[in-house]
Amino acid sequence: MLFKRCFAFLVICCCLLLPTGAIVASAQERRAEGFRRYEGKYIELLTDLPDRADVNVELEQLPKAFDAAMPLWCKYFGVELAEVEDWRASACIMLEKGRFREAGLIPAGVPEFPYGFQYYDQLFVSEQPSAYYRRHLLIHEGTHWFMSHHFGANAPPWIMEGMAEWFGTHRWNLETQQLDLSIIPTDKTLVPYWGRVRKIREQLEAGTAPSLEDIMQYDNTAHLSVDAYAWSWAAVVFMVNHPDTKEAFSEVLQQPMRPDMTQTRWLFEKLKARWSSIREQWNAFTSDLDYGWSPQGGMLTISNNPTKLVGSSTPITIHSDRSWQASNVYAAAGNKIRIRATGSYEVAQLPKPWICFADGVTLEYYRGQPLGRLMLAISTPRNKPVATQQITIMPLATEAVVEMPQTGELHFRVNEASLEIGDNQGQLTVQIELLEK
Ligand SMILES: [Zn+2]
Repeated sequence: MLFKRCFAFLVICCCLLLPTGAIVASAQERRAEGFRRYEGKYIELLTDLPDRADVNVELEQLPKAFDAAMPLWCKYFGVELAEVEDWRASACIMLEKGRFREAGLIPAGVPEFPYGFQYYDQLFVSEQPSAYYRRHLLIHEGTHWFMSHHFGANAPPWIMEGMAEWFGTHRWNLETQQLDLSIIPTDKTLVPYWGRVRKIREQLEAGTAPSLEDIMQYDNTAHLSVDAYAWSWAAVVFMVNHPDTKEAFSEVLQQPMRPDMTQTRWLFEKLKARWSSIREQWNAFTSDLDYGWSPQGGMLTISNNPTKLVGSSTPITIHSDRSWQASNVYAAAGNKIRIRATGSYEVAQLPKPWICFADGVTLEYYRGQPLGRLMLAISTPRNKPVATQQITIMPLATEAVVEMPQTGELHFRVNEASLEIGDNQGQLTVQIELLEK
């Protein structure tokens, strides 16, 4: 996390010119101060954490995890490993920040920061209540460090912090030393004190979530609040995964970085024709986002020219193993429509296949509805910026009559967490009929 990004930007570029000898010399001085030291290929780490076996086990792992991140950063940003051969960061993992300040390890130009800070080749991480979160912050700051070396400049705050959070959310296997970056945790117990999903769900439910535009226009002070990290992370997860945005976002990361709004504006211009749909697709994504969320089952995508419902629709096939599927049919607010669903499908394989119809099975519930129940989402492109909000979702059955609360396209899926939907088998046939205008 960069407490004061504009300031950090000013210093990052000069930093690239620093001779590495200065780092080696200062490292020797630091050892004299009595901080414990751990070393990896790309990082040297100093700490004042208690010299206890359980803590030391975790600390010994940190340089290994950081070194394992290097080829992954390189691969994502298209950098050859040979190019980063001489890159080397130093990190302070600090229980008492004052000790590091007194020892001259925190340059005077580094402001107060609550979690972490990247300054030239120096990374600072305040001690956290979980080993996961400590490592998360080191990789987060390491991502800033890698990107600042690679690009020589910073991107807008939502991209810089969103990317650092996206990479920082990781899985580290102590036994195999396998590191996976940019994961969506399957369970909150795997990422203690990370809390981004909870923050997003709370604000969605309270109606206080910022609009996508608000997030993309965060200024250099927005990330004083933890909320901004959660939303920047979500925006990047959306941009790298949604079929409407992923190519354009990838192009942004191939351009020279600028800390102002240039790249955000470029992205907006590139996506302008679909932007009103993207606003609603973002709403659908955040409504779905949860532990174990995955793009593999597809993301809600609004059809380009859906057909207005007149009489009866043609039969629509809905796959039980996918997320929201567009019907290419829309109905107007106030229309009364009947939706009939036929077909059965399997929603779980163990301990035995559960055969399910559109009413779902009441042996298990997901988000308050029976597992496997047919669900309806109504998507309405948004012509103006709107606070991020849950899309309209309604439970259906083998036959249901719905009064349209808004004009929009109809999307269907069966009710199950995205972590588990992929092993379903079978499909339904849905038919929509206009009863009353
Ligand atoms: Zn950051």
